[in-house]
Amino acid sequence: MTDRTRESQGAMSRRSFFLAGSATAGALSAPWIPARARSADAPPPDAAELLKVQTQRALRWAGKPPADWVRSREGVDHNVVIVGGGQSGLGIAYGLRRKGIGRVSVIDRCEPGQAGIWRSIARMHQLRSSKMLPGPGLGNPELVFRAWYETLNGAAAFDALDRIPRLVWADYLSWFEQVTEAAVRYRTRLLGIEPAGDILRLHLESDGAQRTETTHKLVLANGFKGAGGVSVPAVLRGLPAGLWSHTDSPLDFTRLSGKVVGVIGAGASAFDAAATALEQGAKEVHLYTRRPYVDYPAPGSTQPPGPPGDRGHATVLELAGELPDEVRWRDWRARENSVATVPLDSLARAVDLKNFHLHLASELTDVAAGRGGVTARLSGKKLRFDHVIAGTGYRVDLSAQPELAAIQPDIALWKDRYRPPAGEEDSVMGLYPYLGSGFQFLPQQDARAEHLRNIHCFNIAASASFGTLVGDIPSVPQQSRLVGAITRDFLLDGVDLVQSRRWAQTPLVPPNPAPYQRALSPG
Ligand SMILES: Cc1cc2nc3c(=O)[nH]c(=O)nc-3n(C[C@H](O)[C@H](O)[C@H](O)COP(=O)(O)OP(=O)(O)OC[C@H]3O[C@@H](n4cnc5c(N)ncnc54)[C@H](O)[C@@H]3O)c2cc1C
Repeated sequence: MTDRTRESQGAMSRRSFFLAGSATAGALSAPWIPARARSADAPPPDAAELLKVQTQRALRWAGKPPADWVRSREGVDHNVVIVGGGQSGLGIAYGLRRKGIGRVSVIDRCEPGQAGIWRSIARMHQLRSSKMLPGPGLGNPELVFRAWYETLNGAAAFDALDRIPRLVWADYLSWFEQVTEAAVRYRTRLLGIEPAGDILRLHLESDGAQRTETTHKLVLANGFKGAGGVSVPAVLRGLPAGLWSHTDSPLDFTRLSGKVVGVIGAGASAFDAAATALEQGAKEVHLYTRRPYVDYPAPGSTQPPGPPGDRGHATVLELAGELPDEVRWRDWRARENSVATVPLDSLARAVDLKNFHLHLASELTDVAAGRGGVTARLSGKKLRFDHVIAGTGYRVDLSAQPELAAIQPDIALWKDRYRPPAGEEDSVMGLYPYLGSGFQFLPQQDARAEHLRNIHCFNIAASASFGTLVGDIPSVPQQSRLVGAITRDFLLDGVDLVQSRRWAQTPLVPPNPAPYQRALSPG
């Protein structure tokens, strides 16, 4: 938020401030309405066929993915297993394929078509990030969102989009999965990881049956919840399930029809949940935040606030992990401690609804089950809710992630590797893993757990090591760094010195001179 915005905010009452914000957002003319409905540039009737031809041509021009060159090892089922078939897992799988790394298996615990968050717990109308981000595609222009969308809907339709509608992004990812032949194994959940020498034995549950498989490398592309779960405010922890939920859980909002709902937190997901509840008939929704204001992007800006342009800039994002510890620590800490930014349209969606009530600088206390719902106090005043929703984000604590139980004690964390300057200590951030530059876990100095280097962590826990959020769409360019690291490890692991020496020392045998014999001059 700019200083100017803060000044103007200070000069307005809270209510008029948000009404003014909603008027600005209203002027955006319902940007989540599919652009095609508003666009004069209708797509050609054979758009789907055009897309197919264009994609096949692009893949043909890119050339067949190289054959698998990775040295196979006795008793190892996979070169790489990727946990998570969301946008990160799909992008990384495609990157490995283009490097000639075969026997890559992507697993996802959910049903086909349901990977990621977009059709389940994300509730906004349109993405929070800019439509101009390339996303997955590996520099292949025909595979990026814009090519897909414009081919199906016309160029003017893309121009007319404010940001990408959420479900359209989900459709795009399904298409990307199909054309890159990711072959995700659905209904397959990682339960545990067991080191077996320098390889990994994975305990899986597949279609209800338990099994083990071995892999040389493991990639954790398991999402924001994949490094410790959701963050739950202490006041809610003792409540019986059913009286409260987290925005990260699927929730049948029609159950809240006619009910009084409390929402804790003032990030974008908290506002989306509040609006969804009211749209599904909730009687009243009260949103509580300890902060004295709600942050939102300056109208017209496409860039989220971030570190200075020489750090974390989109064009050099893949180099973010090269920055000194001190800079990465400070960058991520600043981001974590900043007020979450709520897109103006998400803010307006809730604020425009009559029975939405925003409580700034407010902290619920004495939260308990009672009077057929949840009772609480706010500044001494008694309150009652039928249901409370926590919009309080995620936490990083590898000791709380069940599948990491057997290996987690040996993983180096920031608190093991870095002493921040006085005044910049942060015990929460100290729990983030201290990753290598290829996103791999590192063993603690005194542990001999070299197998950890074969586990690459591409989820929210990687954010401290790269000073910037990992897993969102802006972080897609960083996937190439992980792919490069895995490729390098396989290349070096496969070096056969004996064979190399034998090859170099093999005497050259001159070929049959017949093709040039006729032109040979004596002497
Ligand atoms: C509500 C919300 C809205 C967001 N909006 C935006 C946005 O607009 N723009 C943006 O850039 N970013 C956004 N993000 C951030 C980020 O882009 C998303 O979280 C995105 O889904 C991350 O993609 P991913 O592939 O890393 O993880 P996910 O999409 O979460 O996919 C992880 C997959 O791993 C699977 N999985 C997890 N554990 C296991 C296991 N043990 N075994 C097998 N499978 C497993 C899950 O089933 C899931 O399909 C948002 C995040 C949230 C939470």
